[in-house]
Amino acid sequence: MSTTPRVVVIGAGIVGANLADELTARGWTDVTVLDQGPLPLTGGSTSHAPGLVFQTNASKTMSEFASYTVEKFLALEVDGAWCFNQVGGLEVATTPERLADLHRKQGWAAARGIPAEVVDVDECARRHPLMDPSWILGGLHTPTDGLAKAARAVTALIRRAESRGAVFRGSTRVTGVAQQGGRVTGVETDHGLVPADIVVSCAGFWGRELGEMVGMRVPLLPLAHQYVVTGQVPDLVGRNDELVEARLPILRHQDQDLYYREHHDRIGIGSYAHRPMPVSLAELPEVSDVSESRQPSMLPFTEDDFAPQWEESRLLLPSLNDTKIDTGFNGIFSFTPDGGPLVGESADVAGFWIAEAVWVTHSAGVARSVAQLLVDGRSEIELHGCSVHRFEEFQLADDYVAETSQQNFVEIYDVVHPLQPKLSPRDVRTSPFHARQTELGAVFLEARGWERPQWYEANAPLVAELPPEWQPPARDAWSARFHSPIAAVEAWRTRTAVAMYDMTSLTRIEVAGPGACAMLDRLTTGKMDKSVGSVTYTLALDEAGGIRSDLTVARLGAELFQVGANGPLDLDLLRRAAARTGDVTVRDVSGGTCCIGVWGPLARDLVAPLTSADLSHEGLKFFRCVQTEIGGVPVTAMRLSYVGELGWEIYTTAGYGQRLWDVLWRAGQPLGVVAAGRAAFNSLRLEKGYRSWGADMTTEHSPYEAGLGFAVRPSTKGDFVGRDAVTAPGAQDVTRSLTCLTVDDGRSVVLGHEPVLVDGEPAGYVTSAAFGHTIGRPIAYAWLPAGLAPGTPVEIRWFGHPVRATVASEPLVDPEMARIRR
Ligand SMILES: Cc1cc2nc3c(=O)[nH]c(=O)nc-3n(C[C@H](O)[C@H](O)[C@H](O)COP(=O)(O)OP(=O)(O)OC[C@H]3O[C@@H](n4cnc5c(N)ncnc54)[C@H](O)[C@@H]3O)c2cc1C
Repeated sequence: MSTTPRVVVIGAGIVGANLADELTARGWTDVTVLDQGPLPLTGGSTSHAPGLVFQTNASKTMSEFASYTVEKFLALEVDGAWCFNQVGGLEVATTPERLADLHRKQGWAAARGIPAEVVDVDECARRHPLMDPSWILGGLHTPTDGLAKAARAVTALIRRAESRGAVFRGSTRVTGVAQQGGRVTGVETDHGLVPADIVVSCAGFWGRELGEMVGMRVPLLPLAHQYVVTGQVPDLVGRNDELVEARLPILRHQDQDLYYREHHDRIGIGSYAHRPMPVSLAELPEVSDVSESRQPSMLPFTEDDFAPQWEESRLLLPSLNDTKIDTGFNGIFSFTPDGGPLVGESADVAGFWIAEAVWVTHSAGVARSVAQLLVDGRSEIELHGCSVHRFEEFQLADDYVAETSQQNFVEIYDVVHPLQPKLSPRDVRTSPFHARQTELGAVFLEARGWERPQWYEANAPLVAELPPEWQPPARDAWSARFHSPIAAVEAWRTRTAVAMYDMTSLTRIEVAGPGACAMLDRLTTGKMDKSVGSVTYTLALDEAGGIRSDLTVARLGAELFQVGANGPLDLDLLRRAAARTGDVTVRDVSGGTCCIGVWGPLARDLVAPLTSADLSHEGLKFFRCVQTEIGGVPVTAMRLSYVGELGWEIYTTAGYGQRLWDVLWRAGQPLGVVAAGRAAFNSLRLEKGYRSWGADMTTEHSPYEAGLGFAVRPSTKGDFVGRDAVTAPGAQDVTRSLTCLTVDDGRSVVLGHEPVLVDGEPAGYVTSAAFGHTIGRPIAYAWLPAGLAPGTPVEIRWFGHPVRATVASEPLVDPEMARIRR
């Protein structure tokens, strides 16, 4: 009898089959995979997927998932037939903007260790002789990309998992999830109950339906996507055979939202150029006998939607003029609000997991991570962009999911700037200062629904007043997008006078109850049992010592804490912990409250006269807070500063917000107060070396690697999550470090994800970057080998060009903390 948990996997597509393989490889052999369709061709998206695998992605996690899929599928075969044909990938540019973007992408590849090079037109034509080179300007060639034979890989994975004890049952539809006491106990099917300790839904675009069975909202939208296969292409005759299928690289023509692969002597063409076509599950064709051409996930081809792309295809690949479209279909798969997959355990029903909205490309990587989560409690690849709990509540609403998922379909191959905000929906969440900010000409970007001022046009006249050493240099076209030199004014005024920052968009969580202190103490690296009025910067770690989050915890009462957090993942973490205690309540209070950061050398002159609280240096020390009134508005003032200047984060409830803004704004006029936006904020925080979780560090990094060892205080407290890992011998001996760099030419601003070369070899990548207005040069933080001494020269690759930079000791501004502690 097996001693491992009984796992039921719903869905035997590429994700479910991979998961069964990964679980059984780890010794969990009591695995039953159920599919409503026949096996191995179930009729899901995998059954018809053409299987192009392009590995390079803006997200490191997604690239690593893809690379693992390549590595794994290369080693799979079915009766001698391949599961991965490494023909290479070629992405071509027909516009200068795309060509530049391919250089940017080559940088991502270099940062992730994926070999790729930007090649000229002749080389593109040599690699893909069917292409008319006169249309293109160049391409990105990635030799390790290729074709996954997804349906065959499913067969190989089923066989391997079965050989280790897994059971696959086709034609078995899951109709419900059995549960007791908040835990899954099995699944109900049309053939009876299958008991389980853990259920993982890998149901692809059916995922919402399965989630509903446990009251879990799964934010995905099934969309149709067109794929055609031509008749015989004379130029391909004799090149391939049925087994090899393809020798030319897989090809992307992203300027026309198209991709191509060979099918023996035919060409397959996929198009994202058509209108988004949402699919309701009720519309799926009834298919009793699934075959390669008849599947519930295949809708009839709508020829008109493809007509322009057929013309475009014939321009790029003139050989297509000698053939016709032979077959076509509108295939269905999942899209999500941000394009990422959905992985995680239900917040309400323990043991119910999902792994959905996953491409073939990322399937093995996602499955491995889910298996690691289940077996080891932790994925070696960090998953914050994949967690199903990353969304705010409004982002789970049907309308939001429908609109943003369709937008992702439309933009799938677009060149997207890292700061580019959504065009819609906007104004979902506005702070109470919004009207005042609008009057000041705020230029808003969007973050998790919040409208966040990036800079204020009202400050434009001050650009002329900037002292010469504060005048920002001109930027190149890419780094100048979504940016304004006005940010320099706002940084300058923060460092020399005083500025008001809207901090409302940061997540605030109230943790209350008799067990609140003990719960927070157990979850974090700092000592929580401090006096009322204390504020602690602390880390939440996982058991292996990886950084799950960084938190600012204010003790407002004996049993009342306000946690400054990074977003919904922290809420999920705290809620789960509270559910285990039974005497703690956790509430997201972000929407009902607001916050203004008042920072700068004149901050005390601005705020102190408005309150009876003692805001002197001694009266309210750094990392202390006080509940008081400012200009008659009840507030909590915390003496903190993410920008490295004297000042306070001043919190109040939303109803008082505008009043608070007005009171502070009026009082600040004689002092030269400005409203300042995120652009200045980001610059100032990097000058101070303050890390941003998610960008600078994640669960993949230890506090010591991230330069946050100071926040780990094992000697001051008892047990906490991650204690054993961070106190283990050698835990502080690091081989890589988050490293501060300054850019030598004083003007080249990079934006993040760029590769960094040491001694000419790729050695790491940029996490966060900004122009440091105080120091008059750009700053970049990067993961690099540990021990690079200040002064070490490095090179950042920016759109294929070298940008020389130098390792610097940090922080770059005010290492003595004299500006804050005054
Ligand atoms: C036209 C087209 C082209 C594509 N091209 C590519 C490509 O080139 N590269 C790439 O990486 N990706 C591509 N994709 C995407 C890719 O096919 C999918 O993302 C992937 O196959 C999803 O795998 P899956 O295992 O999650 O889902 P599926 O393969 O759909 O598997 C889910 C399974 O769950 C089963 N199921 C659902 N509900 C139940 C239930 N209640 N009870 C029991 N079983 C249930 C279904 O029968 C199904 O077999 C393409 C998709 C389409 C439509």
